[in-house]
Amino acid sequence: MASRPLPGSTTLGLGHMPSPLQEERLSPDRWQAVYNFGRSTWRPGWVVRPTRADDVAALLEWARTHGWKVALRGAGRSYGDAALGNGHLLLDFTRMNRILEWDPDTGLLSVEPGVTVERIWRYTLEDGWWMPVVPGTMYPTMAGMLAVNVHGKNNWKAGTLGEHVRRVTLLTPRGQVRTLTPEDTPEEFRAVVGGLGVLGVILEVTLQMKRVHSGDLLVRAWATPDLRHTLEALDTHKDAWDYVVAWVDGLAGGKALGRGQIHVARYLEPGEDRAPARTLRAEHQDLPDNLFGIFPKSVLWRFMRLAMHRPGMRLVNLGKYLAARTLAHHKEYRQSLVAFNFLLDYIPHWERAYGAGGMMQYQIFVPKAHAQDVFREVLRVTQRQVPTYLAVVKRHRPDDFLLSHGVDGFSLALDFPVRPRRLPQLAGMLDYFNRLVLEAQGRFYFAKDASLTPQVALAFLGEGAVRRFLTLKDAWDPDGVLESALYRRIFAPLRERLGLNPHAHRG
Ligand SMILES: Cc1cc2nc3c(=O)[nH]c(=O)nc-3n(C[C@H](O)[C@H](O)[C@H](O)COP(=O)(O)OP(=O)(O)OC[C@H]3O[C@@H](n4cnc5c(N)ncnc54)[C@H](O)[C@@H]3O)c2cc1C
Repeated sequence: MASRPLPGSTTLGLGHMPSPLQEERLSPDRWQAVYNFGRSTWRPGWVVRPTRADDVAALLEWARTHGWKVALRGAGRSYGDAALGNGHLLLDFTRMNRILEWDPDTGLLSVEPGVTVERIWRYTLEDGWWMPVVPGTMYPTMAGMLAVNVHGKNNWKAGTLGEHVRRVTLLTPRGQVRTLTPEDTPEEFRAVVGGLGVLGVILEVTLQMKRVHSGDLLVRAWATPDLRHTLEALDTHKDAWDYVVAWVDGLAGGKALGRGQIHVARYLEPGEDRAPARTLRAEHQDLPDNLFGIFPKSVLWRFMRLAMHRPGMRLVNLGKYLAARTLAHHKEYRQSLVAFNFLLDYIPHWERAYGAGGMMQYQIFVPKAHAQDVFREVLRVTQRQVPTYLAVVKRHRPDDFLLSHGVDGFSLALDFPVRPRRLPQLAGMLDYFNRLVLEAQGRFYFAKDASLTPQVALAFLGEGAVRRFLTLKDAWDPDGVLESALYRRIFAPLRERLGLNPHAHRG
């Protein structure tokens, strides 16, 4: 691992800081290469994992007075560069992971920033409460999810995670603690939720959980022959079911372009589950250790690697589609909340199957009227240029968060292998897609982004939103202490463009 001396010294003494930072040293072994989730890019940084709000305040103060930048990180599950820094301090919140308050009567939950989805369901489900919105994996942290304002497969029905948050406690780099609520501070609340960790440090979140009467969902699955049927199915069933999602065979062309498998699911009503105490227990939710009772999950990604090329994935996709059309066609069954929501967690480290170059995910959000045309063109072009190995479509609704990715329409998420020699082709292709999405008045999602330019971000967010965001940043972080690689790539150049003073960048 590379290491470099700190400006002026090799250890960072925090002698003037309160305990326990008096003992803390930024020793060279904290200098790490930090990767994005897809392992397609990395940045160096001095990684510190604080356990107390005081430590965070002291570190921010030290950084501010020494001209250092600080990036924030949760579980590092963002696909792009949202949780990477630029060679300065990286605060990792995974050790600030206490559940602070839990009321099983009202479902109000208060947690520290590093509490994960998994920790929450293990804590609350036996009392009959589930998170109202979860992403496709249970490993992200509360602050990490809120800083990008995650959506789930129930986005049409339930909105984003931020819509269920009652209170956020934020520490700004100048040391002020702010309590934000949707009622009392709506503008600031809607900027911090989805604010990409550059307005302040989220120290505490209070969430209204969702009452459930079973640990199972009722699920229905069926196959669709093409893109039109796939989108129509999601749209038709979005109101009757709580969750609607489609897997798409990204390698099927011609008339079969956009064919796939629909999954819809709903919560069970009181009385539908005859043994709720059993299904709400963690043992019922736990994912199996072995696939088909034989293969240890931990080694599966190594086998997947053998199929990670176009012919291999064509076969895998075809097999999955045929199974959807035969074995699973119009099947209705019960599935645990965990198994339905966190399918990808079945295979630990699946992202490593993509090989040394890693993978990236690209997700676009297109209004309903244009979704079919844009997705058709996108799928066609990927098949000619860089194939996608996993494609997922969801139905979305708009929201009023400042840096929102929501639209009244559909999202298409595509996983791509990253091969260094094909990078220019991939970049050119995504650049073309970005233009298509902008023309269709669509939006993008920073948690999944590695391709946006400042211009594209400005175009989809609108100058008013970007100006409000950067003005709030200047008010709360006038020294520009909080800075991720994503902020530096997209928002720092926009400051200049909008006539705002650039923050000093050292190092
Ligand atoms: C397999 C997989 C499936 C996924 N499915 C979905 C999905 O269905 N829907 C969806 O919306 N997303 C999805 N995601 C994306 C994921 O939910 C987000 O990237 C989420 O932000 C990850 O949380 P994290 O704790 O890993 O945060 P990180 O990736 O570590 O950080 C995310 C952001 O939070 C900021 N941050 C971290 N801690 C703090 C803090 N204390 N205060 C302020 N800011 C902070 C960081 O600076 C960064 O900007 C998926 C990701 C994976 C890997």
